[in-house]
Amino acid sequence: MDSIVKGKINSIQTLGTLDGPGVRFVIFLQGCNLRCGCCHNPDTWELTGGEEYSALEIADKAERYRSYFGKDGGITVSGGEPLLQPEFVCELFKECKKRGINTCLDTSGSLLNEKIKELLEYTDRILLDIKYTTDEQYLKYAGCSIERPLEFLEYVNGINIPVTLRQVIIPTLNDSCENVEELKKIRDKHKCVDGVELLPFKKICKVKYDKMELKFDFDRFETPSSEIMKKLEDIL
Ligand code: SF4
Repeated sequence: MDSIVKGKINSIQTLGTLDGPGVRFVIFLQGCNLRCGCCHNPDTWELTGGEEYSALEIADKAERYRSYFGKDGGITVSGGEPLLQPEFVCELFKECKKRGINTCLDTSGSLLNEKIKELLEYTDRILLDIKYTTDEQYLKYAGCSIERPLEFLEYVNGINIPVTLRQVIIPTLNDSCENVEELKKIRDKHKCVDGVELLPFKKICKVKYDKMELKFDFDRFETPSSEIMKKLEDIL
């Protein structure tokens, strides 16, 4: 029987290599509860819009690319914020696990409730954004307290789901050695964290903001040099 839970989906990337291990079928869900200044996907912010698909429809689509997944690949659910649609993600991940497809969740970790805890039981890996290492910057540039992702990380550490921490490096905001030292402390405090990815801030998304007639406030920040990225990566 087909599911009655429909997911609102912004877009699908059939063979992604940047969002989780191996080659992945990546779906970007519509809707986000945060408003990060560096956001690359402002078109995913509103919960209205997007195309509706059932979990089975998405699992069937992903299945067609199975031969590309190899031993590490699978499906990644990104956004927007996938945890705003926990019923859909839960059904999708359950279905994927039934079919032996690896599941990965790309999230800001800013939400946690019973349904989310249920979907985490079917999650093989989490890509967790730790956007900044101070509460002040979190509140100012992301729109939630740093306590939210830290509580989320605490929870997934308790249930042993492998986590990759990710942080977008934005010159003058978080490109200092002190910031990366703090990130390292967060990594070292949680045994579930087995990797940290530092991503250089880029401005290619500006065209999306222009098209949507939104101000891209972070246009004022530069892209970090490869030397700075290397220096910060060496700390980790
Ligand atoms: S959580 Fe992700 S999708 Fe939402 S505003 Fe921040 S960067 Fe954009």
